[in-house]
Amino acid sequence: MPRHDMDFDLLISGGTVVTESESVITDIGIRDGRVAALGSFQRSSARSHIKAAGLVAMPGGIDVHVHMSLPFGGTVSSDDFGSGSRAAALGGTTTMIDFASQIPETSLCDAIHARKREADRQVCIDYALHLIINDVADRWLRELPETLALGVSTFKAFTAYPNEGLMLSQLELRELMTRVAQYGAQVDVHAEDGLTIEANRQRFVELGQTSMAFHPRSRPATTESEAIRDVLATAHQTGCRVHIHHLSTAEGLSNIEAATDISVSAETCPQYLLLDASLYNTPKAALFAASPPLREPQDSEALWKGLRSGSISMVATDHCPFTFSQKTAGDKAFTEVPNGMPGIETRIPLMFSEAVVKRGFSLPLFAQIVSTNPARRFGMYPQKGTIKPGSDADLVLLDPKAHKQIEHTKLHMNCDWSPYEGMEVTGWPITTILRGEILCQEGEWIPANPKGRFIPRKVG
Ligand SMILES: [Zn+2]
Repeated sequence: MPRHDMDFDLLISGGTVVTESESVITDIGIRDGRVAALGSFQRSSARSHIKAAGLVAMPGGIDVHVHMSLPFGGTVSSDDFGSGSRAAALGGTTTMIDFASQIPETSLCDAIHARKREADRQVCIDYALHLIINDVADRWLRELPETLALGVSTFKAFTAYPNEGLMLSQLELRELMTRVAQYGAQVDVHAEDGLTIEANRQRFVELGQTSMAFHPRSRPATTESEAIRDVLATAHQTGCRVHIHHLSTAEGLSNIEAATDISVSAETCPQYLLLDASLYNTPKAALFAASPPLREPQDSEALWKGLRSGSISMVATDHCPFTFSQKTAGDKAFTEVPNGMPGIETRIPLMFSEAVVKRGFSLPLFAQIVSTNPARRFGMYPQKGTIKPGSDADLVLLDPKAHKQIEHTKLHMNCDWSPYEGMEVTGWPITTILRGEILCQEGEWIPANPKGRFIPRKVG
């Protein structure tokens, strides 16, 4: 029996509404930027209306690992908060987590405020920040309660990049985890063995072995899996929650699966699921420079299994685009090519096509991987990551039957190539809604001004 006692700003009717727990055909009533009710409602109960019959209505995508305007290797990643977040929305993502970075001799809170100012001018979707910690001196770590109060509740550590001032030693990581654990907060880790990798790079350069084929050989699978093993041991000793960024290897996954006595989560990325290291032996090899590097097909298969079983709970992108010329200008040694690839706009369509359509993942599992699990693990649930009364009305309407070929010219990231160029996908996001406001429809951008907001996060 249709109800008409409701007064909605927006009604989305007849779509297949997918959450982490179910997939049902129902209407979504939205009021004041939030989901007000699910059920069967009359068209007259709302000021505006979208017919969603035949479409999948899912919680907006959440990408927990992106780098806008990141300085790297003498250049800067080519998307800023404006272009990157707009492309994100056009690809079905409504919340992203970027990084503030500790600045030498500067308060942690000042670093967060500076990054927020940079984002707030332009950002078109909601965003949050992790904080990269590279100096664990007490005078900085005593600011942790203040950063938590600002809504920054995850702290990123690197076990790689010793020459860039990013790497923490095992002892420093232990100090960070001990302190972060006191608040029940989480350390996120880029887990690669930086010292071994640096020694490999130097050796290859001395031998004149500088082609891209030596990039993956300088960062073999053991440099990830052994770093993960050590990080998990430190998490065990300190009782700290830990998240492993961009998991790329079967061995690394085994180590995570064996760590049953700690709170650990892991993300992988579309590039590790869909591409492999054979690309480093092609003329376009430099485009695919990333850390960790692309791996072997058997690693990808292991990651797919981990996603299905839940031992990998989410897919993020590590979106860090560099243009064709940034990647390939000159005859660069592999050590000189900036690491990173574009991906924020293609994550949802690629994962829908590959996970749901090709591999038969259920729609709720898909929603968990791209939205709910990131929201839960990173302290944003149930404001984000689900479709329930009271949740932010962040929604994506996806046409599950749309066929498209990935072409960089039809994408919106500030990048003139795509790692997935020419790939055929089934399913494409056609409408993206942020807190009840339509951001884009059929590839058309609607708002005149950026609408994104900073989302303070709880301790997950
Ligand atoms: Zn990253």
